[in-house]
Amino acid sequence: MKTTHIRHNWQLIPRDAATEDVVSHSLHYGGAVFEWIRVYSTEQWPKIFKLREHIERLFYSAKVMDLKIPYSVDELCAACLQVVKENGIDAWYLRPIVYLGTGAMGLSVLDKEIELNVSISLWKWWKYLSNDPINVKIPRIRRVDPSTTDMNAKISWNYANSILASSEIKKAWFDEALLLDTSGYIAEWPWENIFFIKNEEVFTPAEGGILPWITRATVIEVFNKELDIIVQEVNIHPDELGEYDEAFFVGTAAEVTPIGSITNEKRQKFEYTSGNEESLTTHMKELYHQITHGTLPTYMHRLS
Ligand code: PMP
Repeated sequence: MKTTHIRHNWQLIPRDAATEDVVSHSLHYGGAVFEWIRVYSTEQWPKIFKLREHIERLFYSAKVMDLKIPYSVDELCAACLQVVKENGIDAWYLRPIVYLGTGAMGLSVLDKEIELNVSISLWKWWKYLSNDPINVKIPRIRRVDPSTTDMNAKISWNYANSILASSEIKKAWFDEALLLDTSGYIAEWPWENIFFIKNEEVFTPAEGGILPWITRATVIEVFNKELDIIVQEVNIHPDELGEYDEAFFVGTAAEVTPIGSITNEKRQKFEYTSGNEESLTTHMKELYHQITHGTLPTYMHRLS
């Protein structure tokens, strides 16, 4: 569903007027940076979860790409809240994007002639995945190597790798891909992070080959503060997949999504109890829902 208005370079314009020249730099070379933020319908409706953290990541990504955003973090946070208000909506996704438009088509982004754009749009998308545990496959293609990009930045170019992985596993009728890094360890889903549970101990791939920010940090914090569990950040090899009881994906879009099975490159299938009512995954899913919907008082300050 389309939003009615977007903020484009600080102007509020009708969505249909927000068009771009086909000869624009980011469209051709993938050098845009963006965020993907959830707006939740709460009792003090609507609220944005971890808005400042998302905008700080947008600034980090922009710095990595040498894109100089002409606004401050506070200004962009205010603009996001403004767009939500202006569209009069409840539960949506916000998409701030910083991209290069027309002016010059050489590769250098430092060319003063290139136009830099900052847009904030939003659209309705209630749930990215089903509530049921999903079936996951390790694709042939590996996660982009950390030596070739900055894995902590949300750069459009990095998502070409995510698209290839998703297409590969969708053609094999699986719900999602689980990418290995170039050393053969488990990295992440094309746009979410992963956790595993074994005997009430929780593990997640270490930083370096993943985008590690918002939901992963929330889940690590909540395991620690609410369940007294210290999450262990380790390298996880696919040969160890059979040792775990539960597995789940986390991210802004997927929130906490239980994994029912993972099929490895040798077509061996490992099944998990993540979807059971008494599982730790279900417990975390409920806590995350309470936090994002403003019913867990200690986390209210995360909502704007
Ligand atoms: N990994 C990748 C590659 C992603 O695109 C995302 C979504 N932004 C995540 C992990 C996790 O998302 P977030 O940091 O927004 O929770």
